[in-house]
Amino acid sequence: LPVKVKPGRRVEEFLKLRLPLGEGNGVMVRTAREKQAFNVSPADSDYRLDEALPIEFGRLSFAAVPMFAKGKVTGVIAVDRDLSGREISSEDMRNLSMLANQAGLAVENSNLYEYIEHANWELSQTRERLLEAEKMAALGEMAAGMAHEIRNPLVSIGGFTRRLLKSLDEESPLKVYIEVIINEVGRLEKTLNEVLDFARDTLGNLEEHDLSEVISDALYVLRRELKEDNIKVVKEFGDVPPVLLDERQIKHVFFNLFFNASQAMEGGGVLTLKTYLTQVEGRTFVACEVSDDGPGIPAEILTNIFNPFFTTKDTGTGLGLSIVHRIISRHLGEIDVVNRPEGGATFIIRLPVAEEAGLYLK
Ligand code: ADP
Repeated sequence: LPVKVKPGRRVEEFLKLRLPLGEGNGVMVRTAREKQAFNVSPADSDYRLDEALPIEFGRLSFAAVPMFAKGKVTGVIAVDRDLSGREISSEDMRNLSMLANQAGLAVENSNLYEYIEHANWELSQTRERLLEAEKMAALGEMAAGMAHEIRNPLVSIGGFTRRLLKSLDEESPLKVYIEVIINEVGRLEKTLNEVLDFARDTLGNLEEHDLSEVISDALYVLRRELKEDNIKVVKEFGDVPPVLLDERQIKHVFFNLFFNASQAMEGGGVLTLKTYLTQVEGRTFVACEVSDDGPGIPAEILTNIFNPFFTTKDTGTGLGLSIVHRIISRHLGEIDVVNRPEGGATFIIRLPVAEEAGLYLK
Protein backbone atom coordinates (compact mmCIF):
# COMPACT_ATOMS: atom_id res chain seq x y z
CA LEU A 1 0.00 0.00 0.00
CA PRO A 2 1.26 3.48 -0.68
CA VAL A 3 1.58 4.83 2.83
CA LYS A 4 0.80 8.50 3.16
CA VAL A 5 2.72 9.91 6.01
CA LYS A 6 1.26 12.77 7.97
CA PRO A 7 3.14 16.02 7.36
CA GLY A 8 6.18 16.28 9.61
CA ARG A 9 6.25 12.52 10.41
CA ARG A 10 8.46 9.79 8.96
CA VAL A 11 7.69 6.24 7.78
CA GLU A 12 10.33 4.84 10.20
CA GLU A 13 8.26 6.12 13.09
CA PHE A 14 5.63 3.60 12.10
CA LEU A 15 7.98 0.72 12.92
CA LYS A 16 8.64 1.97 16.43
CA LEU A 17 5.04 2.79 17.16
CA ARG A 18 3.28 1.33 20.21
CA LEU A 19 -0.50 1.51 20.49
CA PRO A 20 -1.59 0.66 24.05
CA LEU A 21 -4.58 -1.64 23.73
CA GLY A 22 -6.28 -0.31 26.82
CA GLU A 23 -6.41 3.25 25.52
CA GLY A 24 -8.24 5.06 22.74
CA ASN A 25 -11.07 4.19 20.42
CA GLY A 26 -9.19 4.25 17.12
CA VAL A 27 -10.20 1.49 14.72
CA MET A 28 -6.94 -0.48 14.92
CA VAL A 29 -6.93 -0.64 18.69
CA ARG A 30 -10.63 -1.56 18.76
CA THR A 31 -10.07 -4.34 16.22
CA ALA A 32 -7.48 -5.96 18.49
CA ARG A 33 -9.38 -5.31 21.70
CA GLU A 34 -12.82 -6.36 20.51
CA LYS A 35 -11.51 -9.19 18.30
CA GLN A 36 -13.69 -8.16 15.39
CA ALA A 37 -13.34 -6.69 11.91
CA PHE A 38 -14.28 -3.11 11.08
CA ASN A 39 -15.19 -1.69 7.69
CA VAL A 40 -15.93 2.01 8.11
CA SER A 41 -16.46 5.04 5.92
CA PRO A 42 -16.17 8.71 6.88
CA ALA A 43 -19.92 9.03 7.46
CA ASP A 44 -19.92 6.29 10.18
CA SER A 45 -19.75 7.19 13.83
CA ASP A 46 -17.05 4.49 14.17
CA TYR A 47 -14.78 6.32 11.71
CA ARG A 48 -12.04 7.11 14.17
CA LEU A 49 -8.36 6.96 13.40
CA ASP A 50 -5.85 5.88 15.99
CA GLU A 51 -4.41 9.19 17.11
CA ALA A 52 -0.80 8.01 17.49
CA LEU A 53 -0.52 6.63 13.94
CA PRO A 54 1.84 8.75 11.87
CA ILE A 55 0.03 7.72 8.65
CA GLU A 56 -3.14 9.03 7.06
CA PHE A 57 -5.88 6.64 6.09
CA GLY A 58 -7.67 7.27 2.81
CA ARG A 59 -10.43 9.79 2.41
CA LEU A 60 -12.77 6.89 1.73
CA SER A 61 -13.60 3.82 3.71
CA PHE A 62 -10.98 1.68 5.33
CA ALA A 63 -11.04 -1.67 7.07
CA ALA A 64 -9.18 -3.48 9.79
CA VAL A 65 -9.29 -7.21 10.57
CA PRO A 66 -7.72 -9.09 13.50
CA MET A 67 -5.11 -11.81 12.96
CA PHE A 68 -5.66 -14.86 15.14
CA ALA A 69 -3.45 -17.67 16.40
CA LYS A 70 -4.84 -20.21 18.87
CA GLY A 71 -7.84 -17.99 19.55
CA LYS A 72 -5.69 -15.01 20.51
CA VAL A 73 -5.31 -11.80 18.54
CA THR A 74 -1.71 -11.59 17.39
CA GLY A 75 -2.02 -8.62 15.02
CA VAL A 76 -4.23 -6.35 12.96
CA ILE A 77 -4.23 -5.79 9.22
CA ALA A 78 -5.60 -2.41 8.12
CA VAL A 79 -6.27 -1.39 4.51
CA ASP A 80 -7.86 1.46 2.63
CA ARG A 81 -9.08 1.95 -0.92
CA ASP A 82 -7.48 5.26 -1.65
CA LEU A 83 -6.13 4.27 -5.06
CA SER A 84 -9.23 2.78 -6.67
CA GLY A 85 -11.61 4.95 -4.67
CA ARG A 86 -14.00 1.99 -4.48
CA GLU A 87 -15.91 1.12 -1.30
CA ILE A 88 -14.62 -1.98 0.53
CA SER A 89 -17.14 -4.73 -0.23
CA SER A 90 -18.14 -7.65 1.98
CA GLU A 91 -16.35 -9.89 -0.56
CA ASP A 92 -13.17 -7.83 0.07
CA MET A 93 -13.72 -8.29 3.79
CA ARG A 94 -13.98 -12.08 3.41
CA ASN A 95 -10.73 -12.15 1.41
CA LEU A 96 -9.06 -9.92 3.95
CA SER A 97 -10.16 -12.16 6.82
CA MET A 98 -8.78 -15.19 5.01
CA LEU A 99 -5.49 -13.41 4.48
CA ALA A 100 -5.42 -12.38 8.15
CA ASN A 101 -6.02 -16.00 9.23
CA GLN A 102 -3.16 -17.26 7.08
CA ALA A 103 -0.91 -14.46 8.29
CA GLY A 104 -1.85 -15.26 11.90
CA LEU A 105 -0.79 -18.88 11.38
CA ALA A 106 2.44 -17.81 9.72
CA VAL A 107 3.31 -15.54 12.64
CA GLU A 108 2.48 -18.32 15.10
CA ASN A 109 4.67 -20.77 13.17
CA SER A 110 7.56 -18.39 13.11
CA ASN A 111 7.20 -17.82 16.87
CA LEU A 112 7.16 -21.56 17.43
CA TYR A 113 10.19 -21.97 15.23
CA GLU A 114 12.08 -19.37 17.25
CA TYR A 115 11.01 -21.05 20.47
CA ILE A 116 12.25 -24.45 19.24
CA GLU A 117 15.54 -22.92 18.08
CA HIS A 118 16.04 -21.42 21.52
CA ALA A 119 15.10 -24.66 23.29
CA ASN A 120 17.58 -26.52 21.07
CA TRP A 121 20.29 -24.06 21.90
CA GLU A 122 19.60 -24.40 25.62
CA LEU A 123 19.67 -28.18 25.32
CA SER A 124 23.05 -28.17 23.62
CA GLN A 125 24.41 -25.81 26.28
CA THR A 126 23.16 -28.12 29.04
CA ARG A 127 24.69 -31.13 27.29
CA GLU A 128 28.02 -29.36 27.08
CA ARG A 129 27.86 -28.40 30.75
CA LEU A 130 26.99 -31.96 31.73
CA LEU A 131 29.88 -33.40 29.73
CA GLU A 132 32.18 -30.84 31.32
CA ALA A 133 30.86 -31.69 34.80
CA GLU A 134 31.38 -35.43 34.17
CA LYS A 135 34.91 -34.84 32.95
CA MET A 136 35.66 -32.73 36.03
CA ALA A 137 34.13 -35.28 38.40
CA ALA A 138 36.24 -38.12 36.93
CA LEU A 139 39.35 -35.99 37.07
CA GLY A 140 38.53 -34.90 40.62
CA GLU A 141 38.15 -38.49 41.77
CA MET A 142 41.44 -39.52 40.27
CA ALA A 143 43.23 -36.49 41.67
CA ALA A 144 41.78 -37.03 45.14
CA GLY A 145 42.83 -40.69 45.09
CA MET A 146 46.38 -39.75 44.19
CA ALA A 147 46.49 -36.90 46.67
CA HIS A 148 45.54 -39.23 49.54
CA GLU A 149 48.18 -41.74 48.47
CA ILE A 150 50.88 -39.09 48.35
CA ARG A 151 49.91 -37.18 51.46
CA ASN A 152 50.83 -39.78 54.09
CA PRO A 153 54.40 -40.41 52.96
CA LEU A 154 54.81 -36.67 52.45
CA VAL A 155 53.77 -35.93 56.03
CA SER A 156 56.39 -38.44 57.21
CA ILE A 157 59.10 -36.89 55.02
CA GLY A 158 58.23 -33.43 56.32
CA GLY A 159 58.13 -34.53 59.95
CA PHE A 160 61.40 -36.46 59.90
CA THR A 161 63.21 -33.74 57.99
CA ARG A 162 62.18 -31.15 60.59
CA ARG A 163 63.55 -33.47 63.30
CA LEU A 164 66.77 -33.87 61.34
CA LEU A 165 67.10 -30.10 61.09
CA LYS A 166 66.73 -29.73 64.85
CA SER A 167 69.39 -32.35 65.52
CA LEU A 168 71.90 -30.68 63.19
CA ASP A 169 74.66 -28.46 64.41
CA GLU A 170 74.12 -24.69 63.86
CA GLU A 171 77.18 -24.64 61.62
CA SER A 172 76.39 -27.81 59.69
CA PRO A 173 76.80 -27.46 55.91
CA LEU A 174 73.85 -29.87 55.51
CA LYS A 175 71.44 -27.34 56.97
CA VAL A 176 70.75 -25.55 53.68
CA TYR A 177 69.84 -28.86 51.96
CA ILE A 178 67.48 -29.81 54.73
CA GLU A 179 65.83 -26.40 54.53
CA VAL A 180 65.31 -26.82 50.79
CA ILE A 181 63.63 -30.20 51.45
CA ILE A 182 61.35 -28.66 54.07
CA ASN A 183 60.34 -25.81 51.74
CA GLU A 184 59.66 -28.12 48.84
CA VAL A 185 57.64 -30.48 51.02
CA GLY A 186 55.60 -27.45 52.16
CA ARG A 187 54.93 -26.53 48.54
CA LEU A 188 53.84 -30.10 47.72
CA GLU A 189 51.53 -30.14 50.73
CA LYS A 190 49.95 -26.89 49.54
CA THR A 191 49.36 -28.40 46.10
CA LEU A 192 47.86 -31.53 47.65
CA ASN A 193 45.48 -29.47 49.74
CA GLU A 194 44.39 -27.63 46.62
CA VAL A 195 43.83 -30.93 44.81
CA LEU A 196 41.68 -32.14 47.69
CA ASP A 197 39.78 -28.86 47.68
CA PHE A 198 39.21 -29.33 43.97
CA ALA A 199 37.89 -32.84 44.47
CA ARG A 200 35.61 -32.00 47.38
CA ASP A 201 32.13 -31.87 45.98
CA THR A 202 29.82 -30.70 48.69
CA LEU A 203 28.53 -27.43 49.98
CA GLY A 204 29.15 -27.04 53.68
CA ASN A 205 27.32 -24.40 55.61
CA LEU A 206 24.80 -22.57 53.45
CA GLU A 207 23.70 -19.24 54.87
CA GLU A 208 22.35 -15.95 53.60
CA HIS A 209 25.10 -13.35 53.24
CA ASP A 210 25.68 -9.95 51.72
CA LEU A 211 28.21 -10.76 48.98
CA SER A 212 29.86 -7.33 49.33
CA GLU A 213 30.57 -8.09 53.00
CA VAL A 214 32.07 -11.50 52.24
CA ILE A 215 34.33 -9.86 49.65
CA SER A 216 35.37 -7.16 52.13
CA ASP A 217 36.22 -9.86 54.70
CA ALA A 218 38.36 -11.71 52.16
CA LEU A 219 40.11 -8.44 51.32
CA TYR A 220 40.74 -7.78 55.00
CA VAL A 221 42.49 -11.13 55.40
CA LEU A 222 44.79 -10.32 52.46
CA ARG A 223 45.26 -6.61 53.23
CA ARG A 224 48.94 -6.95 54.16
CA GLU A 225 49.90 -8.99 51.09
CA LEU A 226 48.03 -6.59 48.80
CA LYS A 227 49.75 -3.60 50.36
CA GLU A 228 53.16 -5.23 50.07
CA ASP A 229 52.46 -5.94 46.39
CA ASN A 230 51.52 -2.29 45.86
CA ILE A 231 47.91 -3.08 44.96
CA LYS A 232 45.34 -0.33 45.41
CA VAL A 233 41.81 -1.58 45.95
CA VAL A 234 38.80 0.31 44.57
CA LYS A 235 35.38 -0.85 45.80
CA GLU A 236 32.22 0.00 43.89
CA PHE A 237 29.66 -1.96 45.85
CA GLY A 238 25.97 -1.68 44.99
CA ASP A 239 22.99 -2.24 47.22
CA VAL A 240 22.37 -5.96 46.66
CA PRO A 241 20.02 -8.55 48.17
CA PRO A 242 21.45 -11.52 50.13
CA VAL A 243 22.79 -14.66 48.45
CA LEU A 244 22.89 -18.17 49.82
CA LEU A 245 26.49 -19.26 50.16
CA ASP A 246 29.10 -21.33 51.92
CA GLU A 247 31.20 -18.50 53.32
CA ARG A 248 34.45 -20.47 53.57
CA GLN A 249 34.25 -21.62 49.97
CA ILE A 250 33.21 -18.26 48.51
CA LYS A 251 36.04 -16.54 50.39
CA HIS A 252 38.36 -19.13 48.88
CA VAL A 253 37.06 -18.07 45.44
CA PHE A 254 37.98 -14.45 46.11
CA PHE A 255 41.37 -15.35 47.63
CA ASN A 256 42.21 -17.15 44.39
CA LEU A 257 40.99 -14.31 42.18
CA PHE A 258 42.87 -11.69 44.24
CA PHE A 259 46.06 -13.79 44.16
CA ASN A 260 45.87 -14.16 40.40
CA ALA A 261 45.14 -10.46 39.92
CA SER A 262 48.00 -9.50 42.17
CA GLN A 263 50.39 -11.85 40.36
CA ALA A 264 49.24 -10.43 37.01
CA MET A 265 49.93 -6.87 38.16
CA GLU A 266 53.65 -7.20 38.70
CA GLY A 267 54.98 -4.12 40.45
CA GLY A 268 51.52 -3.02 41.54
CA GLY A 269 48.24 -1.79 40.10
CA VAL A 270 44.58 -1.22 40.79
CA LEU A 271 42.18 -4.00 41.79
CA THR A 272 38.59 -2.89 41.14
CA LEU A 273 35.69 -4.72 42.75
CA LYS A 274 32.08 -4.11 41.78
CA THR A 275 28.86 -5.68 42.99
CA TYR A 276 25.46 -5.18 41.41
CA LEU A 277 22.12 -6.87 40.74
CA THR A 278 21.60 -8.37 37.28
CA GLN A 279 19.15 -10.47 35.26
CA VAL A 280 20.27 -13.22 32.88
CA GLU A 281 17.72 -15.24 30.95
CA GLY A 282 15.01 -14.61 33.48
CA ARG A 283 17.16 -15.42 36.54
CA THR A 284 18.22 -12.80 39.08
CA PHE A 285 21.83 -12.76 40.23
CA VAL A 286 24.09 -10.74 42.45
CA ALA A 287 27.15 -10.17 40.30
CA CYS A 288 30.68 -9.34 41.33
CA GLU A 289 33.36 -8.11 38.94
CA VAL A 290 37.02 -8.48 39.88
CA SER A 291 39.15 -6.38 37.52
CA ASP A 292 42.90 -5.88 37.38
CA ASP A 293 45.04 -3.70 35.16
CA GLY A 294 47.63 -6.34 34.35
CA PRO A 295 48.34 -7.65 30.85
CA GLY A 296 44.98 -9.46 30.47
CA ILE A 297 44.64 -13.06 29.29
CA PRO A 298 45.89 -13.98 25.81
CA ALA A 299 43.08 -15.22 23.54
CA GLU A 300 44.81 -18.56 22.90
CA ILE A 301 44.71 -19.57 26.57
CA LEU A 302 41.33 -18.05 27.44
CA THR A 303 39.49 -21.34 26.86
CA ASN A 304 41.93 -23.29 29.04
CA ILE A 305 42.26 -21.24 32.19
CA PHE A 306 39.45 -23.05 34.05
CA ASN A 307 40.93 -26.48 33.28
CA PRO A 308 42.64 -28.18 36.23
CA PHE A 309 46.44 -28.15 36.10
CA PHE A 310 46.52 -25.47 33.40
CA THR A 311 49.10 -22.86 34.37
CA THR A 312 51.46 -20.41 32.71
CA LYS A 313 53.40 -19.83 35.93
CA ASP A 314 56.63 -21.58 36.92
CA THR A 315 55.40 -22.30 40.41
CA GLY A 316 51.64 -22.46 39.64
CA THR A 317 49.49 -25.51 40.28
CA GLY A 318 46.85 -24.55 37.71
CA LEU A 319 44.18 -25.51 40.22
CA GLY A 320 43.09 -22.06 41.44
CA LEU A 321 40.58 -21.20 38.73
CA SER A 322 39.28 -24.75 38.35
CA ILE A 323 38.44 -24.73 42.07
CA VAL A 324 36.82 -21.31 41.66
CA HIS A 325 34.75 -22.68 38.78
CA ARG A 326 33.61 -25.71 40.74
CA ILE A 327 32.66 -23.71 43.81
CA ILE A 328 30.63 -21.25 41.75
CA SER A 329 28.87 -24.05 39.82
CA ARG A 330 28.03 -25.75 43.11
CA HIS A 331 26.30 -22.53 44.16
CA LEU A 332 24.32 -22.62 40.88
CA GLY A 333 26.21 -19.53 39.81
CA GLU A 334 28.12 -18.54 36.71
CA ILE A 335 31.62 -17.29 36.00
CA ASP A 336 32.88 -15.43 32.94
CA VAL A 337 36.12 -13.75 32.08
CA VAL A 338 36.72 -10.89 29.66
CA ASN A 339 39.70 -8.79 28.74
CA ARG A 340 39.12 -5.10 29.42
CA PRO A 341 39.48 -2.73 26.47
CA GLU A 342 41.78 -0.53 28.59
CA GLY A 343 43.97 -3.55 29.50
CA GLY A 344 43.73 -6.18 32.24
CA ALA A 345 41.25 -8.96 32.95
CA THR A 346 37.80 -8.95 34.54
CA PHE A 347 36.37 -12.03 36.19
CA ILE A 348 32.57 -11.83 36.52
CA ILE A 349 30.90 -14.00 39.11
CA ARG A 350 27.13 -14.29 39.32
CA LEU A 351 25.42 -15.96 42.28
CA PRO A 352 21.64 -16.45 42.30
CA VAL A 353 19.77 -14.28 44.81
CA ALA A 354 18.87 -16.23 47.96
CA GLU A 355 15.19 -15.97 47.16
CA GLU A 356 15.66 -18.01 43.96
CA ALA A 357 18.60 -20.24 44.93
CA GLY A 358 16.90 -21.32 48.17
CA LEU A 359 14.41 -23.39 46.19
CA TYR A 360 17.18 -25.59 44.78
CA LEU A 361 20.13 -25.39 47.12
CA LYS A 362 18.53 -26.21 50.46
P1 ADP B 1 47.77 -20.77 38.71
O1 ADP B 1 47.53 -19.42 39.32
O2 ADP B 1 48.33 -21.77 39.66
O3 ADP B 1 48.52 -20.70 37.40
P2 ADP B 1 44.95 -20.68 38.05
O4 ADP B 1 44.00 -21.77 37.70
O5 ADP B 1 44.57 -19.79 39.16
O6 ADP B 1 46.33 -21.38 38.32
O7 ADP B 1 45.21 -19.78 36.76
C1 ADP B 1 45.45 -20.39 35.49
C2 ADP B 1 46.12 -19.41 34.54
O8 ADP B 1 45.20 -18.38 34.19
C3 ADP B 1 47.29 -18.66 35.12
O9 ADP B 1 48.49 -19.45 35.04
C4 ADP B 1 47.36 -17.43 34.24
O10 ADP B 1 48.01 -17.70 33.01
C5 ADP B 1 45.91 -17.18 33.93
N1 ADP B 1 45.31 -16.10 34.75
C6 ADP B 1 44.51 -16.24 35.83
N2 ADP B 1 44.14 -15.03 36.33
C7 ADP B 1 44.72 -14.11 35.56
C8 ADP B 1 44.71 -12.66 35.55
N3 ADP B 1 44.04 -11.95 36.46
N4 ADP B 1 45.42 -12.03 34.56
C9 ADP B 1 46.11 -12.73 33.63
N5 ADP B 1 46.15 -14.09 33.58
C10 ADP B 1 45.47 -14.77 34.53
